[in-house]
Amino acid sequence: MSQNPILSGTPGAPPLRHETTAGNYFVANYPPFAFWKKESVPELHAALNVECGTRNAEEQTPMGVYAHIPFCRKRCHFCYFRVYTDKDAQQIRGYLDALLKELTVYAGKPAIAGRKPKFVYFGGGTPSYLSPDQLRFLTDGMKQLLPWEEAEEVTFEAEPGTLTDHKLQAIRGLGVTRLSLGIEHFDDHILEVNGRAHRSMEIQRAYAFAREIGFPQINIDLIAGMVEETEEKWRETVAKAVELKPDSLTIYQMEVPYNTGIFQQMKAEGKLVAPVADWETKRAWVDYAYREFEKIGYTVTSGTTVVRDPDKVKFLYRQGLFSGADILSIGVASFGHLSGVHYQNHHDFAPYVETVNAGQLPVYRALPPSADERLIREFILLLKLGSVRVDYFTHKFGVNPRERFAEPLQRLADWGFLSRNNGTISINRAGLLQVDRLLHEFFLPEHNTGRYA
Ligand code: SF4
Repeated sequence: MSQNPILSGTPGAPPLRHETTAGNYFVANYPPFAFWKKESVPELHAALNVECGTRNAEEQTPMGVYAHIPFCRKRCHFCYFRVYTDKDAQQIRGYLDALLKELTVYAGKPAIAGRKPKFVYFGGGTPSYLSPDQLRFLTDGMKQLLPWEEAEEVTFEAEPGTLTDHKLQAIRGLGVTRLSLGIEHFDDHILEVNGRAHRSMEIQRAYAFAREIGFPQINIDLIAGMVEETEEKWRETVAKAVELKPDSLTIYQMEVPYNTGIFQQMKAEGKLVAPVADWETKRAWVDYAYREFEKIGYTVTSGTTVVRDPDKVKFLYRQGLFSGADILSIGVASFGHLSGVHYQNHHDFAPYVETVNAGQLPVYRALPPSADERLIREFILLLKLGSVRVDYFTHKFGVNPRERFAEPLQRLADWGFLSRNNGTISINRAGLLQVDRLLHEFFLPEHNTGRYA
């Protein structure tokens, strides 16, 4: 696809890194994980010992639960998560026991006891790697500890090749309302060279049956710019996605973090540029997909999503994550936020399981963000959704974001990506397609060390 000057930004905008090189592009949290410290873990423990309702500001904070399932059939070459492809049934059972023990400790803490999750999310890894019996064991145990009957959304990530009809029925039976299918691409060759375990036949079969048994929402994930992607293949993949008419579509632009198989190969070959499309091409591919979906009535709701019916299709987990909800996160390497403290669990399987089995929380680093850092976090994450209301921030933080962020907002406006009207701050399509790199403009100077693209 030819270069599109609209997607490249305007003179004065931070220079685009044209090629895809190694590093993280997506902004997933703030302050960045590199600033979370072991020394701050006691602050999480202290916060958990304070009853939720005794702190006015937190009284209304909704809570969700995230459970991390770190198992996969194969490791995709672009994967940067901590996943395990070699665990047997006994080790998996040990892990599920550990998840429940971890949740037991949280459920007994004054800050958590008696609260009901508003949303639940099973992520990975591959939650659908688990058998129906393993899934029932885990979810029955979780429901006993923190009843879900008030949860408005239960999301479950699935890899199409793991989904038999029997397993899909079991997943539906757990109360899952939002099935998220990691399709990534419809072309078998692209799937193969990128190390995916599933093939296109499995996508069609699993999707058809999931529809038949009535999941309230089905999301499909695609990745723009996988190894050996071409414009023709991308257009074919978008056409197939359009045919499925999912409730929502999420498109990620391929990034190549240092812990991926693709980077290992680059290193071995002495290459600095990843063997994937450049950033302008990836943005143009996402833009193409958005326009194809808009033709059939979908609405773009963020830099990564289009949805069929925005009034009906919500994504409460993302909304909660972005807007400062408590996220009780369990599992190896998972990260959460409780009672004003960010935290992340041990990265490795053995220390995670051993710490939980010793009756302790497996948290290895934490950060209690300051009020200003909480404001920045919420502002930049909500900006990923395309627009924010000024009065929301004034009311919640007592700070007018137009004043607090006057300089970066002006820069983004000067570059042609941002507008301010009627109490709303909005990012246009060109800005949304590169929003993660623009968000660094709002970081405190000491946190702007990992800027990319
Ligand atoms: S299925 Fe997802 S989590 Fe598993 S290896 Fe592939 S990208 Fe990583």
